Amino acid sequence: MKKLERKVALITGGNSGIGLATAKQFVAEGAYVYITGRRQVELDAAVEAIGKNVTAVQSDVSNLADLDRLFATIKQEQGHLDIIFANAGGGQIAPLGAITEEHFDKTFNINVKGLLFTVQKALPLLPEGASIVLNASTTSIKGTPAFSVYSATKAAVRSFARNWILDLKERKIRVNAISPGVVPTPGYNLMGLSEEQVQGFVASQADNIPLGRVGRPDEIAKAVVFLASDDSSFVNGIELFVDGGMAQI
Ligand code: NAD
Repeated sequence: MKKLERKVALITGGNSGIGLATAKQFVAEGAYVYITGRRQVELDAAVEAIGKNVTAVQSDVSNLADLDRLFATIKQEQGHLDIIFANAGGGQIAPLGAITEEHFDKTFNINVKGLLFTVQKALPLLPEGASIVLNASTTSIKGTPAFSVYSATKAAVRSFARNWILDLKERKIRVNAISPGVVPTPGYNLMGLSEEQVQGFVASQADNIPLGRVGRPDEIAKAVVFLASDDSSFVNGIELFVDGGMAQI
């Protein structure tokens, strides 16, 4: 028996990095997966890479009308949704002193507002026993130079899990946060660093990780499968660090 047999799942930002790796694992475990992203070309490539049991819906998580269209599609095609992996997100480098209003609004609009309304607008589709997994980050509890706005968004995401398990108590819907450590993905090239700086950052981080290396997207995906499936049926409101031990020392 596969872990997600006959489950319907949504992965926001499912066309790249951790989201794409998770979409592949979800389908391998028997789920039907909806992925979202802003660019149709990348969504089409992801659908091809995933291969089967996947639908892509072009939508921006920070745009509430896009979210309405997304959930109308899932409602019409499936009638319900068992799993949400609220994954879409990212951030750029900006030290205190150089933070602009645009930087703040963009980061919070995607990582916090987009994640909140993804979950809230999905609620009518969720049956009892549904599982919601929020993609936070080790930055929710650690400091990183020039990354404070991103880190604050991830602390907010972690907080949502603690609070929403109370709001969803009567419906027996579980909410957990997953916090990846350093996991090189295409997102690293969007942080505002040169290719050389990205490589230097990744190499320097490996020294701070007890396992002595950075992670891979499929290692995060396996942990998301655990939180999405009944294997974690009594796990609720946690922050699961998948970071080689980096945030534990
Ligand atoms: P990525 O850039 O490869 O993937 C990000 C995904 O989010 C893409 O599919 C992108 O299209 C989508 N996205 C971004 N803005 C969007 C928007 N407004 N609407 C819809 N989709 C949007 O990066 P990744 O590393 O796979 O990041 C995925 C998540 O993991 C993010 O929330 C990120 O903060 C989190 N995370 C990553 C790491 C890491 O080391 N890679 C560590 C901790 C947390």
